[in-house]
Amino acid sequence: MKRIAIYPGTFDPITYGHLDIIKRGLTIFDSITVAIALDTPKQTLFSVEERLSLIQKVVRRMKNVEVKTFSGLLVQFAKRQHACAILRGLREVSDFEYEFQMALMNRRLSKRFETVFLMPNEKYTFLNSSIIRQVAQLGGDTSDFVPPEVTKALQYKFQSEK
Ligand code: ADP
Repeated sequence: MKRIAIYPGTFDPITYGHLDIIKRGLTIFDSITVAIALDTPKQTLFSVEERLSLIQKVVRRMKNVEVKTFSGLLVQFAKRQHACAILRGLREVSDFEYEFQMALMNRRLSKRFETVFLMPNEKYTFLNSSIIRQVAQLGGDTSDFVPPEVTKALQYKFQSEK
C-alpha cells in the first residue's frame, strides 16, 4: 500500500517554507498531495486557479507530489485520496495552539489519520505567506523566500494593482 500524506493549506502563495516541508515529507511518505482548501474564511490575494497553477509549476520537477483542491472536511478528502496521514508544518510555539486544536478535532472526526508535524529548516521559521504578500506589495525583494515563478506572479499582481 502506498503511503500518501495530504499537505493541506491556503498556500497564498507557496513559499520555500512550504517546499521544505514537502521535501521532508517525501522522506517519510511515498507521495504527498498538496491540497488547497477551498472552504477557507481567509481572504486570499491569489485565486484558487492561480495558487494551483503556481504550485504545479513549482513542484513540476519533484517526483511523487500531486496538487489538488478540496472543499468540505479535510478528513473526508483524505479518505477519498486513500491517505494515511495529514502533514503540517510547525514553525514556532505560536503555531502550536491552533495546530494542536485542528489535529485533535480531525482525530475526533476520523480515527484513521495521524497528523504529522515537521519542522522546516530554521531559516524558514519566520516565513509565512502573509509577510511575503506585504513585502511584495511594498516593492521588496521576495526572491530569497519564494521560487522565481512566485516572485514573478507577485510582481505582476501588485503592478497591475497600481
Ligand atoms: P493554513 O491557512 O492552513 O495555515 P498555510 O498555507 O498558511 O495554510 O500553511 C499550510 C501549512 O504549512 C501549515 O501547517 C503551516 O504551519 C505550514 N507552513 C507555512 N509556512 C511555513 C514555513 N515557513 N515553514 C514551515 N511550515 C510552514
